[in-house]
Formats: sequence, C-alpha cells, structure tokens
Amino acid sequence: MSRGVLVVVSGFSGAGKGTVMKRLLEKYDNYALSISVTTRKPRPGEEDGREYFFRTKEEFEKFIEEDALIEYAQYVENYYGTPRFYVEEQLAAGKDVILEIEIQGAMKVKERNPEAVLVFVTPPTVEELKRRLTERGTETPEVIAERLARASEEAEGMHHYDYLLINDVLEECVDDLHQIIQSEHARSWRNKEFISRIQEESRQFK
Ligand code: 5GP
Repeated sequence: MSRGVLVVVSGFSGAGKGTVMKRLLEKYDNYALSISVTTRKPRPGEEDGREYFFRTKEEFEKFIEEDALIEYAQYVENYYGTPRFYVEEQLAAGKDVILEIEIQGAMKVKERNPEAVLVFVTPPTVEELKRRLTERGTETPEVIAERLARASEEAEGMHHYDYLLINDVLEECVDDLHQIIQSEHARSWRNKEFISRIQEESRQFK
C-alpha cells in the first residue's frame, strides 16, 4: 500500500475552512483530519478531542520539549500545534492526512516535508471574510479586528502555496479540493515502485 498524501490547508480565519473540511470528510473516504493541540479556550459547542485537544500553556510546552509536535505556532496570543503520532500513523496506513493550520506552521511543514501539498482557501472577497467572521458571533470585536489584521499578513504569503482554492460555492470547493489531492496521487515521483515494475516487465519485449 502506498503512503498517503500530507495535505496542508490554510486560509483566513472566517474563510470557511472548517466547513470545507467537515464536508470533505463526510463526502469522501480515505481522509484523516489531524486534531491539533491548542492553549485557546473552547468556543461554545467545541469539545476536547473533537475540534482540538485543549491544553494549558504548561502542558503545551511539555509537548514541545518531548518533540511530540510536527510544528507549532503562536496565533493571536495562543499556541497551536500538530501532534506527530496520529499524522505518521495515518500516512503509513495510506490515508491522506489533512492539517488545517496557519501559515507559519504550513511553511515549517513544507520545509521538513517537501512532498506535502499546500492549499490556501480564501473567500472571493475580503468584504465577505469580514461578514463571515462577524456573523459567526463567537469572537469579540477586538479579536475580530486582530484576526482581520492577521489575514492581511497571511495574504502576503499566499503565493507560497501550491494551490489556491476559492470558497464561494461550498460543494464546488469541496470537490475541487478532492480533485487536487487525487491528482497528487498520480504524480510520477509518488509512484516510483509502480514505474520500476512496469519498466522491469516491459524489458522482456526488448
Ligand atoms: P481557531 O482559533 O480559529 O480555531 O484557529 C486559529 C488559527 O490557527 C487557524 O488559522 C487555524 O488553521 C490555525 N491552527 C489550528 N491548529 C493549528 C496547528 O496545529 N498548528 C498551526 N500552526 N496552526 C493551527
């Protein structure tokens, strides 16, 4: 069985990434979504071990010391990190693993895993972004302002991503993401063993 594809999805806060991921997992098999550790407090309706592993700063620092995180970053006063164990296990089992992380973490993952595929999700306009963040109603106006400021910083790094995904119509966005990941499986450098076998077999006709 071949190793799964490591997919990093980033996007502005409020770009609808969470909804896209949820739908992708409902609609297609073979995806595993990594659950991050964070020091942020749970939002109403969020559960420990489902959206995130909610931990204290001390606990988070212990994970760093133990090298238990693939990457971590600070985002608007909180730490977020990707636990290593689950990602490795799922990739080895042939699952395509999705990390939904911000840009600093995405760049670290790409540096250490050049085979990872980086996708940036954006709403069609910045106005739409502001509207979505405000309508979600889970953040204070100050936090919304900080997140919009952060969006402007992240926009500077969009060109480092392999693919850009515009989240306008949800179902289309989900199918496009699925297609991108599926195409990655067909890349010749991901199929070295298959190529060797075909080359070997075809030599008999020389
Ligand atoms: P939120 O607080 O809205 O759930 O997430 C804030 C930001 O942190 C989002 O851009 C999200 O993608 C990012 N994030 C979530 N988990 C991780 C992680 O494990 N590592 C990094 N670097 N960013 C993360």
